[in-house]
Amino acid sequence: MKFVPMNFQNRKTNCCYCSESLSPKLYSLSIENFELPFCIACGEAFKASSQKANPLALSLFIELKKRGVSAHLEKWNGDQTVDISIEEAKVNIEVEAGQHNFSADQAMRNLLGALLAFKRGYLTLRIPNSLVKYNLQHTADLITEFLTETKEPVENDSILWQR
Ligand SMILES: [Zn+2]
Repeated sequence: MKFVPMNFQNRKTNCCYCSESLSPKLYSLSIENFELPFCIACGEAFKASSQKANPLALSLFIELKKRGVSAHLEKWNGDQTVDISIEEAKVNIEVEAGQHNFSADQAMRNLLGALLAFKRGYLTLRIPNSLVKYNLQHTADLITEFLTETKEPVENDSILWQR
């Protein structure tokens, strides 16, 4: 299936990690391999992190990148590896595997992880894997909207307070 991500139409010749300009040939090759435009170095880095990633987190990551979100996959934040991290919105996304619901220890580790991240100014968004599995496009749309809201608090602040 030939697929050109909508959000890359205006900058389709640039790497979606480092913005390096890509030749049309490298662009097509990268889309074919990864569904996303990467330069050689970023493509290699993405390949390595995608092999470690939870497959559903990877699917969600790809959809967020297609929507122009500056997300990073399998990001080490000093305490833990986060499934997807969006630095500019200060949001971490964890895609929850089913067994997390059944382990009190895991739930406590998640809460502690969220607390540590919050102390660094990061909000942790936990997305159940069933949402990614069965409703990927809508989930990615809503998260993108969430991130847009998170990024623009200053301009809307006065309007919010007037209500
Ligand atoms: Zn790059």
